[in-house]
Amino acid sequence: MNQIKTLAFDMDEVITDTLSKTITLYNQLFQKNITKQDLVGKRLSDTLTKEQAELLHREVDKEGFFRDLAIKEKDTKAILEELNKKYKVFICTAAMEVPNSLKDKYLWLKEELPFLNDQNYVFCGDKSILATDYLVDDSLYQLEGFKGQGILFTAPHNQLREDHSFVRLNNWNEVAEYFL
Ligand SMILES: [Mg+2]
Repeated sequence: MNQIKTLAFDMDEVITDTLSKTITLYNQLFQKNITKQDLVGKRLSDTLTKEQAELLHREVDKEGFFRDLAIKEKDTKAILEELNKKYKVFICTAAMEVPNSLKDKYLWLKEELPFLNDQNYVFCGDKSILATDYLVDDSLYQLEGFKGQGILFTAPHNQLREDHSFVRLNNWNEVAEYFL
């Protein structure tokens, strides 16, 4: 019998819409009115001075910021639940840059994805340590170090990047089509 394949999913910008909440905070802090469309091909920090980027980072790292994030798409949960019947699903999130997010992320996952065992959460730094068969992530940096099959999940910052050989999935319907 074939062994059950293991799938790792990144959290921010793959399972959760962290960017929308960050943009709202950014607009409040700096009296701006940017949208996701304005961020195609760049990161928020590219539009800020070093001091502004540090201020934004401090605010994002405050306890509670990651506790009430919106799910990425309306079908994300249902698709993850289906995937979890066919594969071993892991949630692998690089939480070290925002250490105060750890508890919020844990509580969010327990509440929003109750069908997953909390033994399948991986709070990590560098994802090259992962040994899953697949990693779905919006970060090319993390995918480049990953030893299994990397899948690039589209986010504004990577939307224009073609300098890689990863399969690109644009949304959760494409995730479902690819894996189910
Ligand atoms: Mg991410």
